[in-house]
Amino acid sequence: MLRYSIKGVEDVFLIGTLTGMRPAEIFHMLVSWVDFRQNKIFVQASLCPHCRGGKWVPKTGHYRGIDIAPDLLPILRRLARKKADTARVSRISCTKERP
Ligand SMILES: [Zn+2]
Repeated sequence: MLRYSIKGVEDVFLIGTLTGMRPAEIFHMLVSWVDFRQNKIFVQASLCPHCRGGKWVPKTGHYRGIDIAPDLLPILRRLARKKADTARVSRISCTKERP
């Protein structure tokens, strides 16, 4: 159990370092955001039971594409493996956010 949570933190840290994504973006990241063909992550709104109104919306308010660095590719492939498009990538979920 502990091993899993440490691994989850490590993944979030690595994704943050390699993409410049904000923690909130990573916590809300869905498998469907990752486009392995275009090699990009598309940050977009996602449903979230912890966020106000049941929905998380990116701060910038619009869709943005982030290039996937070569070092990040195996991590994302591992995290996305055997998951539905609507599943979250990160094991760490959003805690209540400030309005
Ligand atoms: Zn949320």
